[in-house]
Amino acid sequence: MLSIPSDIWDDMIEHARALDPHECCGILAGTDDAITGHYRITNILANMSEAELARFDQAKLSDLKQLSPEERADIAFQMDAQEMSQAQKDIRQKGVTLRAFYHSHTFSPARPSTTDIKIAMEFESYREKLNIPEPVHVIISLQDKTTPVIRAYRIQDSTATEVPVERR
Ligand SMILES: [Zn+2]
Repeated sequence: MLSIPSDIWDDMIEHARALDPHECCGILAGTDDAITGHYRITNILANMSEAELARFDQAKLSDLKQLSPEERADIAFQMDAQEMSQAQKDIRQKGVTLRAFYHSHTFSPARPSTTDIKIAMEFESYREKLNIPEPVHVIISLQDKTTPVIRAYRIQDSTATEVPVERR
């Protein structure tokens, strides 16, 4: 169970709506299952090079190459590394832990995509070196613009398992 305060919950939706049709992304921090803070992080995918894009699955990559940088940001995200490390520093100073990553899906359901799972597994391969506990992956779906949906998942061994999430 991931318990998210109503102000943070609403701000994530506001963040998703502000960037729509681009995907937004960010970090949630807290203690155990109670989220106490959140950080909006810039989605830098729009500025990524072809080499950096090579991490994406091949079917999607060939599509991505056809797209303008702006269009790329509509279908995927990559967090700005400097903002991430700044957030981690703040999280440590507050004595809490990084609990979740969030991002939005502007046209698809609140389920991890193939690319989301691939990125999560890549992160898992070096996560312990960063001394970060296993994050929950939160997805905000704006597929139905009037009724945003927020769901959370654990991603392990390339498999996503839903984690209950509550707005408190
Ligand atoms: Zn996604």
